[in-house]
Amino acid sequence: MIEIREDIISKRIVVINENRRYRYKKKVRYEVEPGDGCVFCPGNENETPAEITRTGSKNEWSIRVFNNKFPIFVPQKPTSIGKGLYNAWKGHGVNEIIVLTPKHNESPLNFGLKKWFEILKIYNERTEENYKMKGINYVLVLENHGVNSGATLQHAHAQLVSFPLIPEVIKKESGSCKKKLCCKMIEKELKSNRLIFKNKDFIVFSNYAGRFPFEIHIYPFRHVKSLAVLTDDCIHSLAEALMIAMKAYKSVLKEIDYNMVLHTAPKGKDYHFHIEIYPQINRFGSVEYGTDVNINTVSPETSAKMLRDALR
Ligand SMILES: [Zn+2]
Ligand SMILES: [Zn+2]
Ligand SMILES: [Zn+2]
Repeated sequence: MIEIREDIISKRIVVINENRRYRYKKKVRYEVEPGDGCVFCPGNENETPAEITRTGSKNEWSIRVFNNKFPIFVPQKPTSIGKGLYNAWKGHGVNEIIVLTPKHNESPLNFGLKKWFEILKIYNERTEENYKMKGINYVLVLENHGVNSGATLQHAHAQLVSFPLIPEVIKKESGSCKKKLCCKMIEKELKSNRLIFKNKDFIVFSNYAGRFPFEIHIYPFRHVKSLAVLTDDCIHSLAEALMIAMKAYKSVLKEIDYNMVLHTAPKGKDYHFHIEIYPQINRFGSVEYGTDVNINTVSPETSAKMLRDALR
C-alpha cells in the first residue's frame, strides 16, 4: 500500500508506504566496501532496477539513472481515495535514483565544474520527462549526503520524486512568486550581509529566515520556472555557484552531511526556480517537531560571513 493521507486537524500530508519498511527491519549499512559491496558501483549494474539513462559511454558511465528499488511512489491510477471524514490519494508517482559518479568515495563537496554541469543537465532532463507523465503535478530532485541526511548508502547519489499533489510549501512559495516577492528578495540580498557569492546569473546567500545553521539558497537573477529555460551558459553559472557553495562548506565545516533540494515550478504555476541546501549539524527536538518552528543556532548573517570569508 502506498497512499498519501491528510491529517484532518493539522492538514499535514503524509505518505504511508510499508514497502520502505525494509530500511528499519534489515539493518542497512551506510558504509560499505567499494566494488562488490556496493550496488551503485560499476560492475554491479545488474543488481539495480533497469537503467533509464546514463551519461558517459556504453562501457564506462559517468552518471546512471534507474528506478528506486524501494520507491516512495509508484505509477498507478492517480485517484482520490479518501472516504467521509478523511482525505487520501493513491501514491501515484515515480522515484528515480541518480548515481552521480562511478567513484565510490567521491564526495559532491569535491565535484568540479564539469561534473556539476553534467549533473544539472541530467536533473533537468529527468524533471522534464517526469512532468510529461499524466497525474504528476510536482517533481522534486533531491540529494541526501551523509548518514545524518537520511541517506542509506554512502556512494554519492541523488533522487527524483514525482508527486501527484503539489506539496504545501511549494504552493506557498508559488503564491509569494506571484507577488514577485522572490525577485524583490534577490534585489535585497544582493546588498545584504547575507550574500556569499554571485556570478553573472546566480546569487548564493544565507536566507533571512534559514532553518538550519549554514543553510544556503541559490537563485537565478531571472524569474525562471525551471532549469529547462536556461541556456547552457547559464547552467554553467549554476554549476559554478554550486561548486563554490561546496568549497565554502568544505573549508568552514570540513566533511558535512547535507540535504539539497531543487525547487522547480509545479505544473502550471508561477515560480522562481532555486536550490536550497540544509547542512545537518543539529538534530531537531520537540519544539521543531511539535510546532514546525525551528531554532537556528547560527544566525544567517554569521553563517554568511564565515562562508564568504572562506572564499577569500
Ligand atoms: Zn559504490
Ligand atoms: Zn522571481
Ligand atoms: Zn524553496
